[in-house]
Amino acid sequence: MNEAREQIEFDVLFVGGGPASLAGAIHLMQLAKQNELDIDVALIEKGADIGSHALSGAVLNPIALKELIPDYRGAGCPIETDVRGDEFHFLTETGHYSLPFVPKYVRNKGFHIISQCRFVQWLATIAEDLGVNTFPGFAGKEVLFNSNGKKIIGIRTGDKGLDKDGKPKANFEPGVDILAKVTVLGEGAKGSLLREISKKLNIFSGKKPQVFEAGIKEAIQLPEKNYFSDSSGNDIHTLGYPLGLGTHGGGFIYEMGDNRVALGLIVTLGYQGPMLDLYEEFMRFKRHPFVRGITSGGRVIEQGARVIGSGGFYTIPKLAVDGAVFVGAGASMLNVPGLKGIHTSMKSGMLAAEAILEAFSKGSFTEQALAPYHDRLEASWLKKELYVGRNFPQAVSKKGLTKLFMLGVEYLTGGCILFNKMALEEDSKTMSPLKDGDLEASEKRYLRQDYDGVLLVDKLTGVYLSKTQHREDQPCHLIVHDVDLCVNECFKTYQCPCTRFCPGNVYEIEIDDNTQEKRLKLNPSNCLHCKTCEIKDPYNNITWTCPEGGDGPRYTVM
Ligand SMILES: Cc1cc2nc3c(=O)[nH]c(=O)nc-3n(C[C@H](O)[C@H](O)[C@H](O)COP(=O)(O)OP(=O)(O)OC[C@H]3O[C@@H](n4cnc5c(N)ncnc54)[C@H](O)[C@@H]3O)c2cc1C
Repeated sequence: MNEAREQIEFDVLFVGGGPASLAGAIHLMQLAKQNELDIDVALIEKGADIGSHALSGAVLNPIALKELIPDYRGAGCPIETDVRGDEFHFLTETGHYSLPFVPKYVRNKGFHIISQCRFVQWLATIAEDLGVNTFPGFAGKEVLFNSNGKKIIGIRTGDKGLDKDGKPKANFEPGVDILAKVTVLGEGAKGSLLREISKKLNIFSGKKPQVFEAGIKEAIQLPEKNYFSDSSGNDIHTLGYPLGLGTHGGGFIYEMGDNRVALGLIVTLGYQGPMLDLYEEFMRFKRHPFVRGITSGGRVIEQGARVIGSGGFYTIPKLAVDGAVFVGAGASMLNVPGLKGIHTSMKSGMLAAEAILEAFSKGSFTEQALAPYHDRLEASWLKKELYVGRNFPQAVSKKGLTKLFMLGVEYLTGGCILFNKMALEEDSKTMSPLKDGDLEASEKRYLRQDYDGVLLVDKLTGVYLSKTQHREDQPCHLIVHDVDLCVNECFKTYQCPCTRFCPGNVYEIEIDDNTQEKRLKLNPSNCLHCKTCEIKDPYNNITWTCPEGGDGPRYTVM
């Protein structure tokens, strides 16, 4: 489309209103003020408001927050509760065993339980008070490069008001070109702009493939007298049921304020079974007597899903290119064994801010001028923390005793196993073809009968509870490259696993009663922006792009 586009110039543009970008923007403004430097900073976020696409557990290790805002409690940081005690349980089909010790990675006593939505909303008010221009409702749709295609010069935001065929409607608003000396990419796990940058500038070259976990989470309102009234443990992790030992993942249960609990199941997307249904596994987790004992009398008030980039240290890309740096989960800044990415993402944003300030003092924004970001990372506690978990993703990708052995060695040696940099397989490549009996086993495994609409809700009610909205008459933001492949090859080999790994019921296969012809039906307006589909599709047949800015979930307590 050739409409004249407005151009706006800033010194620095942050893409994404998550902890990485917000901590980076705040730190940059703090440093600029200390150095009496006038820097124009903008931040765009695809959610309608800052926080409306934020979903995390979340236990917050406050180490980075203390560095950024030393008196964060005094400054009004919204903390749900402090972690009073940790519990770690192994769930069998009907029972549970408390493990005699809590693995060091999830010893969180003294940390804080937060709602990521509220936390980033609060960070945004601090950033705005320092002079950051925040633009929620603007999705970064395209990366702008200079004429030789090597330097990033800004971001084009998505058009608004196109019809399904991409034609402008009466209320059409073309996207804006936001130009900046430095663009900071903080889109979170599986960023769609980072994917384009990676294709062009090869920033992941020589790294292990990115691998992911998917998490489905609910906030549940409990009665006033509830499990946490008498329990010292309010940070609970589980292993075992419903996934068993073949598929890696586990549950989390965190006490929130106002008699609420945050409950979720994380599943490593390197799983094999084509019939595995992520949502139904979460329901199995919720039906377990141990979990029911905690949620009894409760009501689901919000639900959502999001992927986590869990490749860790050996998947960190090149962190700076001409005109841009990469921060947060998109740049693999996650403590993988501890499932903690908020403080690590914040710290990466802060280190990037320090390097950007240095670049301003040199008046140069080349890859070389921004390289101190990498050097600062190397010298920081963040590098040490990420390095300890460097072999964890490789260990969990193994099976049975090998997995247990490798996890044990890794645990005891502080991250070493026999070989560093062992192979990791892309999540799209791990699925096994359908076997005889898989369909029947899946029918038995997933009950799908006892939804009560209150504590056990079906997928569509879950979407409703995420408050997800997309304008219907817009180009489909989920690109299925070859629909015939879905209904022929993929149906035969895997029974279209997209209908099961998508927690929002975006993908459906309709079969004509008379002709038995199959058709892929897409419901993009249900999309929770978790991005599992782009990662797990066994043919890499799906590309996730940003829909119109402001569309998507409207989380308030996730
Ligand atoms: C279920 C679950 C449980 C977790 N539990 C914990 C925990 O207990 N403790 C912990 O520390 N970590 C936890 N994590 C991980 C942690 O939430 C992430 O590592 C962290 O949020 C990453 O921060 P980020 O700023 O890099 O990205 P995000 O928090 O993902 O934020 C990125 C933001 O960018 C926006 N965005 C993306 N693309 C665009 C675009 N093109 N244009 C404009 N905006 C865009 C998104 O809407 C989003 O708001 C958990 C994650 C999940 C999913």
